[in-house]
Amino acid sequence: MLYQRSSQLFAEAEKVIPGGVNSPVRAFKSVGGTPIFVKQAKGAYLYDEDGNRLIDYINSWGPMILGHAFEPVVQAVTEKAKLGTSFGMPTELETQIAALAVSMVPNIDKIRFVNSGTEACMSAVRLARGFTKRDKIIKFAGCYHGHSDSFLIQAGSGAMTFGTPNSPGVTAGTAKDTLLAKYNDLENVRSLIEANPNEIAAIIVEPVAGNMGCVPPIKGFLEGVRQLCSENGILLIFDEVMTGFRLAKGGAQELLNINADIVCFGKVIGGGLPVGAFAAREEIMNYLAPLGPVYQAGTLSGNPLAMAAGKAMLESLNTDAAIFQRLEEKTAYLEAGIHRVLKANNIIYTINRVGSMISVHFDASPVVDFQTAAKGDNETFKKFFHGLLQEGVYIAPSAYETWFITDALSYEDLDFTINAIDNVSKTL
Ligand SMILES: *Cc1c(COP(=O)(O)O)cnc(C)c1O
Repeated sequence: MLYQRSSQLFAEAEKVIPGGVNSPVRAFKSVGGTPIFVKQAKGAYLYDEDGNRLIDYINSWGPMILGHAFEPVVQAVTEKAKLGTSFGMPTELETQIAALAVSMVPNIDKIRFVNSGTEACMSAVRLARGFTKRDKIIKFAGCYHGHSDSFLIQAGSGAMTFGTPNSPGVTAGTAKDTLLAKYNDLENVRSLIEANPNEIAAIIVEPVAGNMGCVPPIKGFLEGVRQLCSENGILLIFDEVMTGFRLAKGGAQELLNINADIVCFGKVIGGGLPVGAFAAREEIMNYLAPLGPVYQAGTLSGNPLAMAAGKAMLESLNTDAAIFQRLEEKTAYLEAGIHRVLKANNIIYTINRVGSMISVHFDASPVVDFQTAAKGDNETFKKFFHGLLQEGVYIAPSAYETWFITDALSYEDLDFTINAIDNVSKTL
């Protein structure tokens, strides 16, 4: 496949946009080469500026769980646009999507909409600090919670790919309130809590980690964290920006049967428009302005186009209960196929998967945390990535990303992909 026009467009972009992109991982820095410029997308396919068709395993990093240009979302957005695109005043639509989200997700009474996952996590932590009147938080190495200052401490994928886990611009004062723990290491969490008695406001965690590849919680880990939080007056924040409305209707809380105190959303909840949200039980959410003292706001929060897209997406997920089963089956089929061809070609690898989140690591040992994820062979990954691209299969341009499976994929697409992986494996 040729990428002439994409390369030209990237050169133009580099002149006026830092690094040519508006989000760093898009720049292909960790795999080499230049990014592909998309012209349009439909269902499971991307169509680029050179006329290539690619089967898409990123799906805008998660939101397009039902495929690109999903008809109900497109219709909802175009209809709303004609009626005005922003008012900065309440609309009935906001109440409708809030009620729907509250009905789908366990253990939440109220939800506030924002414009990104970053905003959701940032606001959730402020709320937790205000509510508990404590300053410190615990986050896990390799977990990503957006790019706000408190979280840019060993933050997985993007940050990790660029070898700048601690970004300049984050002050020492901010960094000192973020305690870093090892994912899947309960004793580590326990000792941090013991060393900082009555100081920790919240523990924020991706209940299934997805920003160092897909890393499932080992049995007892989240249950133990939940218990430690309850015993020590710490709020447990589940960052479900990736897992929410993906792993189940009610996200990881439902799948794992563990209740968090505050839950963050993004990606799927916006149906492909810029939306984030955070939610909790009433007592906590009432602590937010204008009811309570913790300030949080947004000129475009609850934007009618974004809410229309999100509502159409959530309604589709809510009414077709079989979607999550189909996603599970398709991803399991893909996983079995990848196992088959990588084994047949004597590749050293590990595959992690939970539901429609899956990742392939080029290392033999289990990937359970940031350290083990970082052991994967990046040179092999680069060849794998570019090989698949030539075959017409697009996976994330970084070894530390989850593949996001969409319901728009057919079994023919999955067979095509498995065959492509077989072809590429022979060259590794
Ligand atoms: C993507 C992501 C975020 C950040 O969301 P943005 O919309 O990119 O700001 C936060 N947490 C998790 C788990 C994510 O995957």
